[in-house]
Amino acid sequence: MKITKPLLILLCLLMVVSMAACSPSSNQPQTPVSKEEDAKNTGLTDGAYTASSKGNNGDVNVTVLISEGRIEQVQVGEHNETEGIYETPVERIPNAIVEHQSLAIDTVSGATHTSKAILDAVSQCIQQAGGKIEDFSTPIETAASDAAEEYEADVVVIGAGGSGSAAAVAAHQKGAKVIAIEKTANVGGSAAMSGGMAAVNSSMQIADPETTFTPSEWLSDWMMQQNYMVSAPMIYKFISESGRTVDWLLENGMELNFVAHHQEALMDSPFRTYHAWTGEGFAASMSKILSKLPENGGQLMTETTATQLIMEDGKIAGVMAKKSDGTIVIIKSPAVILATGGYGASEEKIMEVLGFKTNGINTGTQTGDGISMAIAVGAATEGYSNVEFHGAHSAFDLIAGLPNGGASLNHMAINPGALWVNVDGYRFTNEDICYDSSYIGNITAKQGDHYYVLVDQNFIDTLSDEGAIGLGITKDGASFGNTGPKHDEAWTTLKEEIEAGLKNGVTVKADTLEDLAAQAGVNAKNLVDTVKAYNESCEAGIDRMFSKKDQFMVPIGDGPYYLVMGRTTQLCTLGGLKITTDMEVVDTNNQVIPGLYSAGVDCSGSMYNNAYVSYEGVTMGWVMTSGRLAGENAGEYIK
Ligand SMILES: Cc1cc2nc3c(=O)[nH]c(=O)nc-3n(C[C@H](O)[C@H](O)[C@H](O)COP(=O)(O)OP(=O)(O)OC[C@H]3O[C@@H](n4cnc5c(N)ncnc54)[C@H](O)[C@@H]3O)c2cc1C
Repeated sequence: MKITKPLLILLCLLMVVSMAACSPSSNQPQTPVSKEEDAKNTGLTDGAYTASSKGNNGDVNVTVLISEGRIEQVQVGEHNETEGIYETPVERIPNAIVEHQSLAIDTVSGATHTSKAILDAVSQCIQQAGGKIEDFSTPIETAASDAAEEYEADVVVIGAGGSGSAAAVAAHQKGAKVIAIEKTANVGGSAAMSGGMAAVNSSMQIADPETTFTPSEWLSDWMMQQNYMVSAPMIYKFISESGRTVDWLLENGMELNFVAHHQEALMDSPFRTYHAWTGEGFAASMSKILSKLPENGGQLMTETTATQLIMEDGKIAGVMAKKSDGTIVIIKSPAVILATGGYGASEEKIMEVLGFKTNGINTGTQTGDGISMAIAVGAATEGYSNVEFHGAHSAFDLIAGLPNGGASLNHMAINPGALWVNVDGYRFTNEDICYDSSYIGNITAKQGDHYYVLVDQNFIDTLSDEGAIGLGITKDGASFGNTGPKHDEAWTTLKEEIEAGLKNGVTVKADTLEDLAAQAGVNAKNLVDTVKAYNESCEAGIDRMFSKKDQFMVPIGDGPYYLVMGRTTQLCTLGGLKITTDMEVVDTNNQVIPGLYSAGVDCSGSMYNNAYVSYEGVTMGWVMTSGRLAGENAGEYIK
């Protein structure tokens, strides 16, 4: 599966997601069970059974062979899981199930959804074969490991996502022995889901005749977007180094294409900066590039979680980590680069800084570890609470179990032809904002935990029978990463999803607006007034409040009425450690902590005021550029 269009796919993904990261089972000792005993106890009827369950990108099909009352073979069949992520669970989980005759197998960290889909499909097969799930739930004994392994390196990189991978390669190219530690089984982090990166003055962009802006024009526009509450030297560093990063990636075998723009809403922007991953995609290409680390004696350690920095005489002296089997790892090293991807996967930390829930899209492993480890040794923070709001969807946690994964509700939550209201009953934006991921992310975040999309019965009937085109809407809602039905096709599962959603409040239905408001906890008087004013605008043929485009002005008619809950989506946090423009982490006295560097969204806080910029690919542009610079600088430092 290609990663260049990950967003469409990611939806299904996130509806079923639990962000928990677990450790794998390969190192767990076997508890042998004899075949005879199995056949007697399990009640399984011999045969081949098939089932499917939703993974990241759709159904994962599994066939289970039962022989002599025992699970003889588990085979994962057709699926559309993400390349670079699915391989480990697809290989490991079936083997572990057969080995232990149990479904109590740990999921693979960073591949939780694929792992869960396999386990769920196998449990369905067991039930088909007449077995009881409780009989296959025996916990696997894990050996308590107090073993410790010791290593030495010139540079340790914590996190082999986007920025960490770039940092490891750059330090390696400076001649350093690099050990890169990665929590999951795979390289890439959230960067593996990205489509590309922003840069100016790459050789590809210089060759583009339509690109006319200068780096300083971009900087000045950026500063205006952020109300000048940013570090101009840091942004300038990124902008002026970004083109070199693209060329460096190309030299190292990454495939990129200059496509100028990525989002329809920004097609007319003069800042033609978008470079898209092509070829095998980010994760597969980066894995190949990282395979060179052993040339200098270094290595990539996957399924290993860094836990603590080691300091000696006020300088970095190494890292402590833990492997998934419990083995403690101690790496002595004079330089460490923190690249753990911020804390977007920690619902608790997100709640702490924002005070409301978000739909988080990530690999489930960005829990703020690098930032916490650095704070523990005296590091200062900057822009800690900045979050990259990007798009909106329905509430992932509430639609997870609905039919079709709630895909139509996700699409309803960004419907430009509907009327959007907050819990105060006010309309808060032109609904066609859905075509700009940053703006829709920001405005929906401003509403707090959720907002609602209000429609009438006619709207629902028309979508169900004809699609949005039946309402005169000739364009799909296009917030970040939304799948779901197209404007010119019938939304066949919408009614079923709405009915199911009534049970947990993600959808609300009532004959009157007052009753609707009461059920959803929305201010009824304001809601009634809002509908009245909106309908007047529809009738006048001009949106008097927000200037929404005419084609999206669909009046609210007779009931029953519906509310569908929407919630802002975030791709990562942006703030964290305070750094110099050489990527060195500083302490609370603004002094460099010798040997400690950072890269990626662990340390991009100074570039934003309180919202992401409305350009495309800026996080990955920074991630790859800061990673390269951190690696190069750490490589120089150890000399
Ligand atoms: C679906 C999606 C699409 C996106 N598309 C784009 C796009 O097109 N363009 C763009 O600019 N941005 C995009 N982004 C944002 C971008 O992917 C992130 O900003 C970027 O990945 C952050 O890079 P990073 O290196 O800081 O973190 P990551 O890439 O997330 O890497 C962090 C790594 O650290 C590991 N880790 C965490 N803690 C530890 C620990 N204690 N020990 C060891 N390892 C640890 C994690 O497992 C992870 O692999 C997208 C994000 C998502 C989710």
